[in-house]
Amino acid sequence: MSIHENRTVNCPKCQHEQNITIWSSINAALNPDGRNKLFEGAINHFKCDKCQYESLIPVPLLYHDPDRKIAVHYFPPESMKKTEFLNQFDIYGKFIVANEVDFDVPEHLMDVHIVFNMNELVNYIIFREMLLEFHQQKQSKTDPGLN
Ligand SMILES: [Zn+2]
Repeated sequence: MSIHENRTVNCPKCQHEQNITIWSSINAALNPDGRNKLFEGAINHFKCDKCQYESLIPVPLLYHDPDRKIAVHYFPPESMKKTEFLNQFDIYGKFIVANEVDFDVPEHLMDVHIVFNMNELVNYIIFREMLLEFHQQKQSKTDPGLN
């Protein structure tokens, strides 16, 4: 599922108060529009209605695509200063999926790719989608049933 909530924030420049949607997760299969917004740079992007000031809202964002088995997690680089953040990884940088959740963690969420940059998040998704397409084409060319 995709998770987002509405929040009231003050513009860091002019203090103007406005409502924005903060996304903490996007499921591409259930919410293709969330994927489009991400590719347009419109996710967790603040733009002041009054003074036009723009900035990225530094909140973690999980992107996952169950159909293509892609899972990428963005974290703001500042997160690294926090113990609770570091606690989520093993020494090799692998994300430790919480054991205490009361449901079966889907397979694609067992291996989450971590990024610290929103552009890298988008590039990594493009990479995985292209890779999938590439291998599927290779597969169909070598499949004698299709020749
Ligand atoms: Zn403003």
